[in-house]
Amino acid sequence: MNLDAKVSELPKVGSFFESRLKKLGIRTIENLLHHYPSRYLDLSQFSPIATLRLHETAVIQGTIWEIKNMRTAKGKSLMVAIINDGTSVMEAVWFNQPFLVKSLTKGDKVNLAGKIEFFNRRLTLFSPEYEIIRPNNTETIHTGRLVPIYPETQGVSSKWLRRQINQLLKVCTDKLVDVLPQEVIDHHKLLNYADSIYNIHFPKSLQLADKARERLAFEELLLAQVKSLRRKSEWVTNTKAFVFSPHQERILGLIATLPFTLTNAQKKVLREILADLNKEQPMNRLLQGDVGSGKTVVAAIAIYLAFLNGKKSLLMAPAEILAEQHFKTVSTLLNPLEIKIGIVTSSKKDNLEADVLVGTQALLSKGIDTQEVGLVIIDEQHRFGVSQRAELRSKGRFPHFLTMTATPIPRTAALTLYGDLDLSVIDEMPEGRKIVKTYVVPEIKREAAYDFIKKRVREGEQTFIICPLIEPSETLQTVRSAKEEFLRLQEKFEGLSLGLVHGRLKSKEKETVIAQFRSGEIQILVATPVVEVGIDIPKATIMAIEGAERFGLASLHQLRGRVGRSNLQSYCLLFSDSQNPFVTNRLKNMEKHHVGLELAEIDLKTRGPGEIYGTAQSGATGFKIASLSDLALIQKSRQASEKLFKEDPNLKKFPKLLEKIIQAEKEVSPD
Ligand code: ADP
Ligand code: MG
Repeated sequence: MNLDAKVSELPKVGSFFESRLKKLGIRTIENLLHHYPSRYLDLSQFSPIATLRLHETAVIQGTIWEIKNMRTAKGKSLMVAIINDGTSVMEAVWFNQPFLVKSLTKGDKVNLAGKIEFFNRRLTLFSPEYEIIRPNNTETIHTGRLVPIYPETQGVSSKWLRRQINQLLKVCTDKLVDVLPQEVIDHHKLLNYADSIYNIHFPKSLQLADKARERLAFEELLLAQVKSLRRKSEWVTNTKAFVFSPHQERILGLIATLPFTLTNAQKKVLREILADLNKEQPMNRLLQGDVGSGKTVVAAIAIYLAFLNGKKSLLMAPAEILAEQHFKTVSTLLNPLEIKIGIVTSSKKDNLEADVLVGTQALLSKGIDTQEVGLVIIDEQHRFGVSQRAELRSKGRFPHFLTMTATPIPRTAALTLYGDLDLSVIDEMPEGRKIVKTYVVPEIKREAAYDFIKKRVREGEQTFIICPLIEPSETLQTVRSAKEEFLRLQEKFEGLSLGLVHGRLKSKEKETVIAQFRSGEIQILVATPVVEVGIDIPKATIMAIEGAERFGLASLHQLRGRVGRSNLQSYCLLFSDSQNPFVTNRLKNMEKHHVGLELAEIDLKTRGPGEIYGTAQSGATGFKIASLSDLALIQKSRQASEKLFKEDPNLKKFPKLLEKIIQAEKEVSPD
């Protein structure tokens, strides 16, 4: 069985599970092995039955004395087993699982893990996880050990994943070859690859799990760094760009006509960018700045300089909604200067001869004339390989590249990960911007919060209500879904006009709703985090987020950035039904902190060991396991990658590493 074979080729997976696994990003067998646990449950300590107490979660090991199917008074099926562990006897019960009689038999030695509750006036083990210990196979994977808990999706539970991965590990060990050079492994005292894959899933101790995590993270970081060193050296040695003359007066003229003065931070990054554009070495720069810090204006000025030099610009956004918005912003700024601006998305192709083309990645499709492109600006997400850049060459010269991001990546981490890019940071917000007042709203204040929303909306302002899910989920019953909330809130906010937008709408439908929200026709927009991408609605003053505990702080901050984009006082309301003080305290950071980078740092610090939220960072860096907070490991892997690259830039001595890097380079192409 090859690691790049499809998961559907595994026994008991098939096409039925194939589509489900796809939702977790698992397509190949290797992907399944790289589906790492988000945490471990410690079920390694057995308790004697005689010592068990009410409400305790316990693991016991004993023998089944008796097992039978019964019915409750209401006619439900009830399995009852009597377990003896030598210290005492206890009943275990399962509801609606009559098939259990087939799996468990009198006389079986079993591990059971579950909660102790009162049932029939006796302490009873409630719906426990069970696992039979066979004389010839004493290995357990669900109980009696550190048990991996995985990111799940409907129909794919941690239990199912454990079974599959455990089976797989038994047959594929010989395929788990190291891509790291042996000397690197030895020098840094790392686990080998096969051991780390085994121990990340089924560790004997948390120390071993940590060692495994360290090794896998090290590999991810090293690969990323070798990649960026390769990109950089290729870029620096093989490329030339058009040198733009500075046209200082015209540029200052444009800045003078802006309806505001640039912040010092904007001026600083603009100087850095304009200096790059004046060089023959093509610019390759990352512009980082919080939402609303004014990146687009800076981009527009660079576009103007390209225009003055007779060159076209491309401005690429990750979504149609955003492309539309950039189109409007850039048009407002540049139309008075008689610059022609066109838009290209999958549904719209307009004015292809323009000086500036704004669009989604449809911009790169065939049939769009990319001759004479001197500047490419990429807003979020898109990483360009050198070969893709080469396609935009004209007359042997490359365009200048500027990548913009609102993702707060701490500086050290950014320098390591994007070592091939120069970094410019807008670390200051435009003056007069009011801080978005933020409150964690406990359940008892929910109605009051709704009254507040009603009041603001009646005064002509607008509200976002973000829900974590699109549709109600069976496994996450308490988590609010956009579709359900939309229906419920239409009653609650009777007389006001509500809209619904989520990722499963067609882009035309999405656009219509957003346009209605922008025009004020829709007053309250119920949405999934798709709106995170950056729509600009000046009258939107309230951002309410359901299930806030399910988001990283950096993501919440990016959502919050959708409001507070005018001089109206704005609010962010964080709803969470979690009773856990740790969770509430984590969220309370949002009330005190208003700088994305600070929140990203707190995210990194407050994350429990091995815990992973869908944070802005992991999305932006594409790491599965490496953490940006682990500066020591980042340093180590940086040294290792620099040494490797210096001694053997073409990786001739390390063909497996090279193969892996080339494979990864293919994967980062824009999707
Ligand atoms: P970003 O792309 O960084 O999220 P934008 O460039 O879209 O931010 O700017 C957000 C809003 O702030 C826009 O409405 C823009 O016109 C305005 N803006 C930009 N720079 C300034 C400034 N220096 N002073 C006041 N407003 C500004
Ligand atoms: Mg923007």
